Amino acid sequence: MQYWQKEIETMPRKELEAFQLERLKETIQAAEQSPFYKKTFSDHQISADQIHSLADLQKLPFTTKDDLRANYPFNMAAIPIRECVRLHSSSGTTGDPTVVLHSAKDLDDWANQVARCMYMVGVRDTDVFQNTSGYGMFTGGLGFQYGAEKLGTLTVPAAAGNSKRQIKFIKDFGTTCLHIIPSYATRLAEVMYEEGVDPRSDTKLHTICIGAEPHSEEQRKRIEQLLGVKAYNCFGMSEMNGPGVAFECTEQNGLHIWEDYTIVEIIDPITLQAVPDGEVGELVLTTISREAMPLLRYRTRDLTCIIKGDCPCGRTHRRLARFQGRSDDMIILKGVNLFPIQVETILMQFKELGNNYLITIDTVSNSDEMLIEVELSDLFTDDYSVLQQLSKDITRQLRDELLLTPRLKLVAKGSLPIQEGKAVRVKDLRKFC
Ligand code: ADP
Ligand code: ZN
Repeated sequence: MQYWQKEIETMPRKELEAFQLERLKETIQAAEQSPFYKKTFSDHQISADQIHSLADLQKLPFTTKDDLRANYPFNMAAIPIRECVRLHSSSGTTGDPTVVLHSAKDLDDWANQVARCMYMVGVRDTDVFQNTSGYGMFTGGLGFQYGAEKLGTLTVPAAAGNSKRQIKFIKDFGTTCLHIIPSYATRLAEVMYEEGVDPRSDTKLHTICIGAEPHSEEQRKRIEQLLGVKAYNCFGMSEMNGPGVAFECTEQNGLHIWEDYTIVEIIDPITLQAVPDGEVGELVLTTISREAMPLLRYRTRDLTCIIKGDCPCGRTHRRLARFQGRSDDMIILKGVNLFPIQVETILMQFKELGNNYLITIDTVSNSDEMLIEVELSDLFTDDYSVLQQLSKDITRQLRDELLLTPRLKLVAKGSLPIQEGKAVRVKDLRKFC
């Protein structure tokens, strides 16, 4: 099936923006039907007829995760519940779950976005697509499932875990494309090598979609090298359907966000004002085609920026830079602000290091300390002086990047906990009172 939606994907900006404005007006009218937005609009004296340009979007208040929680489970619904056909709930990485409702049309639109993303990176109906995401409430399961089916690939809904079984499926069914979270991709590759399976010669894998958690460019390169594939960054969140909101094209330089479905803003999380393109801020998204649960100016807490300039692929939908993490992932240590992804970027440059690491922050003798434990790779040597030199080199690079000196501990391969699902990279043991 043809999922290169050229007319939409390469629509001139002016047309695209006019299209967005129409959809925005419709969305505001639709949102008014939900108990939550009805009250919000009345409190702020807002109605669709005040929206004359996309800039008028800024007249609307933000919607936050707390609003979703406070209106749990159905107060955000803009259509009767009997017209909804599915409910998803966030995996609750940070706090209580939230509910997102979908109509049949919403699900079809979502599948269309995922199919469009997969087609963009070269997946076709001749491919065999294996999904290693958990099914159920986690949107990476059903979200990719329906998108891949729409595209016409043969789907293997393997679901999460059981690496040996995953590898057997990959080999037996001739899987060519995987959807996998990055921390599990490196783990799966390790198990393949342990099992004597060379992904390059013993499998047909060529493309993988990695997402659901922050990862560095270095980790992507590692995954590509380990599995002999091209790996594409996939961004999504339950509140905005799930996977397929933004996706890298084959240029691998930023994720196109589908602006026929979503209006994107990047704001300074403190002043709440828009930041210029190229400057990092918080991603704020407005759905402009959802029926069951429209969301206006939703504060995602994810930090990224709009990449300036046109993409050589010809698509006009703007690109988001690789995500740094969420505002609540930021570690403040001795007055320095840093993100776990900065640590990963350094560690992954050392081939002597494995793929698993853990950052622990604790108060030691009234002072905050950062301990970074990282596994060694198979290239490990037990020569003490070599290890000491390696440790010094890594610490120096970390200090240059983080502007503070962490304690580094090189540990044997397999000694750090292996996580199911999204990796937990930071343990903060400090007591804030
Ligand atoms: P939860 O909010 O409970 O984790 P979700 O499964 O909806 O539930 O997770 C969405 C979040 O996952 C995003 O807000 C973002 O922080 C993270 N995420 C998803 N895809 C990516 C990606 N490609 N890069 C970085 N972070 C991502
Ligand atoms: Zn592109």
